Amino acid sequence: MGKPILGMGCGKDMSSSLPVQEEGGQTVTAMLRAASWTFRGLHCTSVPFSGRINSKRADRSCPLAEKVAVITGSTKGIGFAITQRLAQDGAHVVVSSRKQQNVDRAVAALQGEGLSVTGTVCHVGKAEDRERLVATALENYGGIDFLVCVAGVNPLVGSTLGASEQVWDKILNVNVKAPALLLSQLLPYMEKSGGSSVVLVSSMVAYVPVPKLGVYNTSKTALLGLCKSLAVELASKGIRVNCLVPGIIKTDFIQVEKTLPYLLPDLNEIYGLQWFGEPEECVGIVSFLCSSDASYITRENIVVAGYSPKL
Ligand code: NAP
Repeated sequence: MGKPILGMGCGKDMSSSLPVQEEGGQTVTAMLRAASWTFRGLHCTSVPFSGRINSKRADRSCPLAEKVAVITGSTKGIGFAITQRLAQDGAHVVVSSRKQQNVDRAVAALQGEGLSVTGTVCHVGKAEDRERLVATALENYGGIDFLVCVAGVNPLVGSTLGASEQVWDKILNVNVKAPALLLSQLLPYMEKSGGSSVVLVSSMVAYVPVPKLGVYNTSKTALLGLCKSLAVELASKGIRVNCLVPGIIKTDFIQVEKTLPYLLPDLNEIYGLQWFGEPEECVGIVSFLCSSDASYITRENIVVAGYSPKL
């Protein structure tokens, strides 16, 4: 995978986009970052230090500067949009999904925008892929601050009780177990970071089950529980865990025009806002949840659906 280009999303100077040299198997970005671990935040923009102290506005425009995010299922749809936003907000981002060509395409597109991203193949259900994802982040950027678990699958439209054991295993493995297992692999590094944040991606079906998606509905409800449990377990380590709960978002996953009329007739009569969401409408909240503005927010499920099923 191509070398990372330091981010230009927050108005960094061009010198930071020079090609990165290899030295002893580690990129210069990773070495610089590791060396400055204890002084993180002091060198996070190209603006001189004294200038940064005086300019709160500059920091606000780049809230995730020099942070490192690992994002699963991020080569298209909601995950790609989140990657783009976190990188625009200053983070170095590791893009991942199952297919190499999707990773290559996403990384090329984002690097073409001058954003600091690298990528690797990671099927979240495979332990060796998760290990490679962790290694990619460490080799390229020297640490990990944020994990955003977007990857999710639904291979079945049909009866819950008619679902095979293989279908149950696949959906629960990818949607529920994988985020927990990946986080356990990242934990030693996120603990060191200070101010780490995890964002899980559930779905509105967790609150409003959709007919014929029973196994998927169940997995997304389980994610709300996983968020609560992990938030409690990791609070003492200073790691916050929250959950994005999207409604219907126009991506290949949902195929709005083809699928929805069969699953949810009269949908627009149910929803408060009379449109289906775009992936970009999910990203601001994820950036916020990663940022220090959300430093006192954990164990929260946040619905982005045009309406809310909560009290
Ligand atoms: P999408 O456009 O189909 O994108 C899915 C992404 O995940 C792709 O990058 C895909 O790339 C990757 N992926 C799929 N299986 C994977 C696996 N096992 N391991 C790693 N990566 C995998 O889907 P989306 O609509 O953005 O959905 C993303 C998440 O949002 C899912 O968890 C979904 O449940 C949730 N969600 C979506 C909606 C919606 O209306 N779209 C609503 C609520 C919740 P590869 O093919 O290369 O792996």
